[in-house]
Amino acid sequence: SGPGEPRYRVVLLGDPGVGKTSLVNLFAGVQERDPLEQHREAVYERTLCVDGEETTLLVMDTWEPEQPPGIPRCQRGRGEESWCRSQCLQVGNAYVIVYSITDRSSFESASELRIQLRRARQAEDIPIILVGNKTDLVRCREVSVEEGRACAVVFDCKFIETSAALQHNVAELFEGVVRQIRLRQGGK
Ligand code: GDP
Repeated sequence: SGPGEPRYRVVLLGDPGVGKTSLVNLFAGVQERDPLEQHREAVYERTLCVDGEETTLLVMDTWEPEQPPGIPRCQRGRGEESWCRSQCLQVGNAYVIVYSITDRSSFESASELRIQLRRARQAEDIPIILVGNKTDLVRCREVSVEEGRACAVVFDCKFIETSAALQHNVAELFEGVVRQIRLRQGGK
């Protein structure tokens, strides 16, 4: 990766278990993940060639769920936790909001995250891609593709359905992120 290429930070948001880490591992080309390795903090860098031009994405899989009150947090106060969350909402050049099509509450969380993001970055026009993951789990679907699409229209963002398990649409997702970033850079 040369010094001249643009680099952008892409932050993954979404409920635990929706597939953020699986998606970023596919993006980064991580073959197998040690199940004992439970790193929460993770930033992956890769240079993509999209439409004949190279762009480097730093994809951050650092989003922490909001802990329900009453659950003990080891060495982490409420203040620190919300600091991490607000940092995530501040540092991205683009956002990927992931829900699972098998989990309606994760879809509702995605809308909530979109609202939080809008609040945190008021005047800015940041690229956001709404992602419905786990399309391979056909029989467990709780959120239709039409609902996902309609939600993206309301929230003025792009939409794609993916399956990390089948590696379906994952490359397209990150290429879409690059294109959305470029569109806002002024027609590159
Ligand atoms: P995260 O908490 O959002 O980072 O979610 P993970 O990537 O850790 O995934 C949570 C669980 O869902 C893991 O057991 C994954 O193997 C599984 N998973 C992730 N993506 C898919 C998918 O597209 N299809 C299926 N069937 N399972 C998936």
